[in-house]
Amino acid sequence: MEYILAKKTNTKQNTVIHLPFGKSIGGNELTLIAGPCTIESEEQIIKAAVQLKDTGISILRGGAFKPRSSPYAFQGMGEQGLIALKKAGKIARLPVITEILDTDDIPLVLKYADILQVGARNCQNYSLLKKLGKINKPVLLKRGLMTTIEELLLSAEYILSGGNEQVILCERGIRTFETETRNTLDISAIPVLKQKTHLPVFVDPSHASGNKELVCPLSLAAVSAGADGLMIEVHPDPENALCDGNQSLTPAQFREIYLKIDNVANAIGRPTRNSKKGSRILSFA
Ligand code: PEP
Ligand code: MN
Repeated sequence: MEYILAKKTNTKQNTVIHLPFGKSIGGNELTLIAGPCTIESEEQIIKAAVQLKDTGISILRGGAFKPRSSPYAFQGMGEQGLIALKKAGKIARLPVITEILDTDDIPLVLKYADILQVGARNCQNYSLLKKLGKINKPVLLKRGLMTTIEELLLSAEYILSGGNEQVILCERGIRTFETETRNTLDISAIPVLKQKTHLPVFVDPSHASGNKELVCPLSLAAVSAGADGLMIEVHPDPENALCDGNQSLTPAQFREIYLKIDNVANAIGRPTRNSKKGSRILSFA
């Protein structure tokens, strides 16, 4: 099957996406997205934003509509969560990303979010993708649990062919026979996608591993393999998180791994936001 608009036609072609507060995705800089899996209260998301704002991140994440495996699990705060997320982003001067689950919610989510996230479970929800082709905000499209690289590119093509050129791809692990990790991070997908498409390629090591101890090594591997950015779950109090506490870092743990990520990023000539500014955080040897 042919993807036409997602295809890279020359090796230097790269889509760059510009965001509020002077942030961007897809340029030479490595872009970091961090924040809790789920917005649990205004206090929680503001706390996360404030604790993260000076750690080199460019975008704050937080889910208000959650695709939970069980219908009895916390489903997200809905619009109240979106209001809190936007407020937190404004305080920290960070653009915000949140998941869109349902076509009916697009106008509501557009009111508050700077980037709309399509989760792994909706990677091949073509009616949702077609509608997102008609919006004028960036869409971060996660690879499905059972989606091939070609199918991911064809899903991106649905959005692009609707007229929305701002698509970001995200490898978040695929389902394999391996049970030691929540999913299996497909590292090869990064260089393969970078060869095939001009779209920015992100990696989510949190959902790929399901384990906070693995977030650092997978992040370093992803950056080394050429990822344009990372999306990492960080919670002010992971032990009491309503969702994905096991894979969430504390802001202090994130700060620690940021230093390692930044070292690798610099080694391959892709500094993070703070390294450009020569922030003190970089005095780490
Ligand atoms: C998420 O990022 O909150 C999420 C649900 O991830 P995924 O769609 O990759 O499972
Ligand atoms: Mn999560």
